Amino acid sequence: MSTRRTFLKTMVAASAFFLPWTHWPKHWEAMLAAWSVEAKVHLTQHEPPLANPTADSGLAAHPTAGSSSAAHVELARDIAALASPQCEGRKAGTAGEAKAAQYLMAEMRELGLKPVTGASYIQAFTLPPMTERRVGGRLTFQAGAAAGEGLRAPSANLLGFLPGERGDEIMLLSAHYDHLGLFEGERYPGANDNASGVACVMRVLRRLLQAEVPPKRTLLVAFWSGEEMGFLGSKAFVQNPPLPLVDIKAVLNVDTVGNGQKGDFALWAYDNNAVVKALQAAAKTQGASAPLVPGGVHNSDQISFAQVGIPAATLMARAWLENNHTVKDVPDFVNKDQIQLASEVVYEATLNLGR
Ligand SMILES: [Zn+2]
Repeated sequence: MSTRRTFLKTMVAASAFFLPWTHWPKHWEAMLAAWSVEAKVHLTQHEPPLANPTADSGLAAHPTAGSSSAAHVELARDIAALASPQCEGRKAGTAGEAKAAQYLMAEMRELGLKPVTGASYIQAFTLPPMTERRVGGRLTFQAGAAAGEGLRAPSANLLGFLPGERGDEIMLLSAHYDHLGLFEGERYPGANDNASGVACVMRVLRRLLQAEVPPKRTLLVAFWSGEEMGFLGSKAFVQNPPLPLVDIKAVLNVDTVGNGQKGDFALWAYDNNAVVKALQAAAKTQGASAPLVPGGVHNSDQISFAQVGIPAATLMARAWLENNHTVKDVPDFVNKDQIQLASEVVYEATLNLGR
């Protein structure tokens, strides 16, 4: 009797572990087996022309709009790839998101980031059932299944690091790469939310690799999934950290930095912590502003770290709500000057926090 009970308990425990993964979609499997730079070529071959990328944005004219600087080209390329039709709006747990992950991992590998867990940049986790809801023209997710659905789906954060002199002191630089996906026949490209933040982090990484004095702290880079479903990727990281959380000294998160008046940024954080101070000091030297917005109402992935007492802040454009979670969030809407400026601010703050 007791043996049978033990057996049944074991079976229940085993199925609780395996069940979410029995639906591991083919696209993630294929990606794990064969991701390569080929995917990157595939994603970038439909790039829009790079000349004068902000001309049709509808925003005010910017002094260097249309500049073909290296930064603009890089930013435009990353945003075009992530917001491309192939990525289908990057809803967490979909084939479109997996394609975006493939693109980013090829970039991470090219930059020489080291994987945190084994040989892979992937930190897998499970998404609960979610349904879409459109309120006032904006699409969001809410927990719960639509009729006839309700499967848990796998998704993945992407983690890589640049080792510093002080391996047990980590500075975490992050941005979420998921967005809303397809809904009622329309694609939500998420160029500003949050291809802009991912492109900004990539730009900062490229510059850090050329810095004369690289950060002494180890720099951990995270591209979160599941942010749009309630910060699920960063929550999964904190609940199941691949390295000691106590080593993480600062979290600088970037979300939706490509619109509004140039230099008009804001910060989300629980308190006036070291990350807030570093970002504000960097903004000041760049002629930008980044006031702390009283928290509580809106959040991004910094919240997952703030909740466990790690100094964390999110940099975003103060006008982030414009076109947010609508089909108008396309590459032409984002302003590369604004993202480039955000990357200058983040770069300087990272050097400061990484010392
Ligand atoms: Zn969003």
